[in-house]
Amino acid sequence: TPRIFSGIQPSGGLTLGNYLGALKRFVEKQDEGIETIYCLVDMHAITVWQDPERLRQQTREGAAAFIAAGIDPARSILFNQSQVSAHAELAWIFNCVARLGWMNRMTQFKDKTAGKNAEAASLGLYAYPSLMAADIMAYHATMVPVGEDQKQHLELTRDIAIKFNNDYGVDFFPVVEPLIEGAATRVMSLRDGTKKMSKSDPSDQSRINLTDDADMIAAKIRKAKTDPEPLPGSVDGLRDRPEAKNLVNIYAALSGQTVAEVIAENAGAQFGSFKPKLADLAVAKLSPITVEMNRLMKDPAEIDRILGNGADRAEAIARPILERTKDIVGMIRSR
Ligand code: ATP
Ligand code: MG
Repeated sequence: TPRIFSGIQPSGGLTLGNYLGALKRFVEKQDEGIETIYCLVDMHAITVWQDPERLRQQTREGAAAFIAAGIDPARSILFNQSQVSAHAELAWIFNCVARLGWMNRMTQFKDKTAGKNAEAASLGLYAYPSLMAADIMAYHATMVPVGEDQKQHLELTRDIAIKFNNDYGVDFFPVVEPLIEGAATRVMSLRDGTKKMSKSDPSDQSRINLTDDADMIAAKIRKAKTDPEPLPGSVDGLRDRPEAKNLVNIYAALSGQTVAEVIAENAGAQFGSFKPKLADLAVAKLSPITVEMNRLMKDPAEIDRILGNGADRAEAIARPILERTKDIVGMIRSR
């Protein structure tokens, strides 16, 4: 039976990119009746320094966003990564399977250290994809809904699983399938159509946060970078127009239409009219989530209880898989 695992880092507040590329699809998968395990990956978040109090706050806020968006903690397992030690333990074993050469090809590490001294990056940031492989393999998950930016890490997860199986002559870890679907698998920054929208981008104007109010969302979309041309008459006309393409993709993902339908409906429209339409749509789709998040955040103890309960259920799945892994590797377990 298929099992889905995915996670989001509590490295900041969730963005429209996280919502369309990940969270919205997490809910769809849950509602299809597949076994779903979702995680606030706090151990990934600290690969870049996080203020401890903010990390706690962002983890709770992330959990509130999941629930507000439609994750039902009774049907999905929802927890924070550090409460299940199997992630860290399996990651160490995977660190010994993965090769330096593989890590050196990872573009996320290059992107996150671009313009900075890579020598000063944490070892954790470098090993990030190995921990991600452990997150998934600790549950023998085979389907992983993610945004386009995580495709390379899932290929690496596959390589680690295959090499582990080969090195130990077993058929133990399954091969993962990335689920990268929909019109918004890569939402771009509102300030730069060639850069991914990210919760850790220094510019708040580059993204829409799930906590932004209606005025803020409208203002950010109004100020979003565009070119001076009206919307084209065909999808083809979006080529080489990254900012226009991004806004059309966001519209399509929010409205549940195809990009072709959005283009057909708005051919020849100026951004002066398309942007307010997009802002209205974004507010209509996001504000119920924001309202529910704010309500849930009033009871942090309840959120912590949900995360603890999810961690117990996650642990029950991961523990036997980790123990079997240790047996395969030749580690004594005598207690
Ligand atoms: P950070 O800047 O801290 O890396 P992030 O916004 O990239 O934060 P992550 O926690 O790294 O968010 O990623 C969580 C999920 O959201 C992943 O599945 C990722 O592919 C997806 N995702 C992140 N940004 C986007 C985006 N701009 N468009 C679509 N999906 C995205
Ligand atoms: Mg990221």
